[in-house]
Amino acid sequence: MDAVSEESLRRALAEKQSAIDAQGNAVRALKASKADKSELQGAIDALNALKLGKSSLEKKLQAAVTGGGPAAEGALTREAFRQAVGNTLERRLFYIPSFKIYGGVAGLYDYGPPGCAVKSNVLSFWRQHFVLEENMLEVDCPCVTPEEVLKASGHVDKFTDLMVKDEKTGDCHRADHLLKDFCNEKLQKDLTITAEKSQELKHVLAMLDDFSSEELGAKIKEYGITAPDTKNPLSDPYPFNLMFQTSIGPSGLIPGYMRPETAQGIFVNFKDLYYYNGNKLPFAAAQIGQAFRNEVKLLPSDAKISPRQGLLRVREFTLAEIEHFVDPEDKSHPKYLEVENLEFLMFPREEQMSGQSAKTIRLGDAVSKGIVNNETLGYFIGRVYLFLTRLGIDKERLRFRQHLANEMAHYAADCWDAEIECSYGWIECVGIADRSAYDLRAHTEKSKVALVASEKFAEPKEVEKLVITPVKKELGLAFKKRQKNIVEALEAMNEKEAMEMKSSLESKGEVEFFVCTLDKYETIKKNMVSISKEKRKEHQRVFTPSVIEPSFGIGRIIYCLFEHCFYTRPSKAGDEQLNVFRFPPLVAPIKCTVFPLVQNQKYEVVATAISRSLTAAGISHKIDVTGTSIGKRYARTDELGVPFAITVDSTTSVTVRERDSKDQIRVNVEELAAVMRSVTEGQTTWTDVWSRFPHHSAGSTNESED
Ligand code: AMP
Repeated sequence: MDAVSEESLRRALAEKQSAIDAQGNAVRALKASKADKSELQGAIDALNALKLGKSSLEKKLQAAVTGGGPAAEGALTREAFRQAVGNTLERRLFYIPSFKIYGGVAGLYDYGPPGCAVKSNVLSFWRQHFVLEENMLEVDCPCVTPEEVLKASGHVDKFTDLMVKDEKTGDCHRADHLLKDFCNEKLQKDLTITAEKSQELKHVLAMLDDFSSEELGAKIKEYGITAPDTKNPLSDPYPFNLMFQTSIGPSGLIPGYMRPETAQGIFVNFKDLYYYNGNKLPFAAAQIGQAFRNEVKLLPSDAKISPRQGLLRVREFTLAEIEHFVDPEDKSHPKYLEVENLEFLMFPREEQMSGQSAKTIRLGDAVSKGIVNNETLGYFIGRVYLFLTRLGIDKERLRFRQHLANEMAHYAADCWDAEIECSYGWIECVGIADRSAYDLRAHTEKSKVALVASEKFAEPKEVEKLVITPVKKELGLAFKKRQKNIVEALEAMNEKEAMEMKSSLESKGEVEFFVCTLDKYETIKKNMVSISKEKRKEHQRVFTPSVIEPSFGIGRIIYCLFEHCFYTRPSKAGDEQLNVFRFPPLVAPIKCTVFPLVQNQKYEVVATAISRSLTAAGISHKIDVTGTSIGKRYARTDELGVPFAITVDSTTSVTVRERDSKDQIRVNVEELAAVMRSVTEGQTTWTDVWSRFPHHSAGSTNESED
């Protein structure tokens, strides 16, 4: 249900309420005037009809705001669906709360055996789809990172969340989360709020990331928000750094942090990687690894083991990041044509600001109209779309949302998030940002190692070059110890800033100049710097590359995949609902199971031989020789998302059952491993296989065995 219909429902509800009030008054007036019985009854009937209408509108509005919509009637509610998926995931050990026997720790989860297998499949597909496809340079850097690296990247000073404290208990909460919960709760549960109020709350939700500490504090006060459990008053917001701090070595003298992202390891290696790549641009480096963020509060509860929402916001998670280095003057991409015709849901800035919803856009149009900043960024958006949908993410519940201008870091040229809709709403799973030259410049400045690229000219070129020469003697006399900061700031001016300073110095003799590293203005006089433009012959152009960064939260993608693949279907007898994960073979934790139909040595020997041939073909599988009915064994593997079940019911041929259609074919034992390999590796589809092999009618080997 979109925003427009929600709004019209709220208006209709308000109108219905006024009509009820008016009709109520009319009934009372008729009663008071002892009106004719039939006239009174007519008025009461009209009142009841209006009330009925109101109740139906309320239901529709409730469905609209909780995201179900009328189409979802009869289907599992979001809550029940989430419960069903979560229970299955925990029961089948996809996830285990870490350190469970000690009570667990919120925000830390283990992947159990099938979870581990899915993760490993997702990562190996990631390597194939990105690293192999683009010849990326993969690196593997330490998690423990010295402070100076993260100081240069800005994380030490800026990687913070705004917190508020319960003024009585001292308990901490994320300020933006409290405001977000308040707005969502009002929008979803309070059907009496006006359409205008609903617009205001939605606006607050849209602007949440942009609020300053003061603005957040003011909204919390305005709405009277208190601490969630205790209802105590809250402090003003204050910043909390999310990095886990440590020190390197026994002396404790080298401060460090657990890395909050993997990207910095790539940036600091730029010089060597550029050399390794033959000093050529563009090229991309990639890294898969753990990232650590001391997330403040894992809503909605402070329980030691957090509720399952914790699977989306955890304190240690796997990131897969790409840093694609490109010439800032040429952001075209040689393979862009391969993705430009893709069409999918995009949610550009304009649409968000004007309250519209995401719409299907051809990627090529978004790039040519300038909605997406450049071809390389567009190329990666397209590749991310293909990656996620091939994994099994539902394309109807995947959208690319552009960051609002003030949601983006100041240095970024453009930024899009791949958001996947699950029972918790739209979740940011991949961030794709054009970070311009920010990171390499920051590390160049701090490390004093030039992280730059160069383009050799075929013929030397005459170029006009800006020359800024600080007069150190004068600056030293005037600013003493601050001289170094001022020299650096003067030298870092771009052409526009320098030429403005030159003309001010010429007209006024001095100028007020802001020095970032001192965080204040200083007066620069004419004799302290000379600024000119000189013509020079240059043989090359030296520049800091821009970087385009797709950053994948692997755990979030996997959780959303679990939800998108989960469904229930009635058992043969119709007496229970059976759980199924419809994983594509690519990500399924186990590709097939092998069951002897009955416990019989003859069949077990064949099953063992099949197992050996599957192992040799590199196909993960599981033998189940338990005497349990075949139907129960099918149900067990469906719940693990195993796509194919092989039942040994003869010594020469076996049946292969596909999980979702439950269709079965008969295949000779010698051919089996090759067939399973081609269908699980995606060289053939089940439809192809179904047309090539004799069909086996469900009978002795289906759920009727239950
Ligand atoms: P960011 O660097 O904040 O843009 O994060 C990059 C990606 O990491 C996001 O798109 C998320 O998918 C994922 N991510 C960020 N924080 C967490 C977290 N606390 N738990 C799990 N995944 C996260």
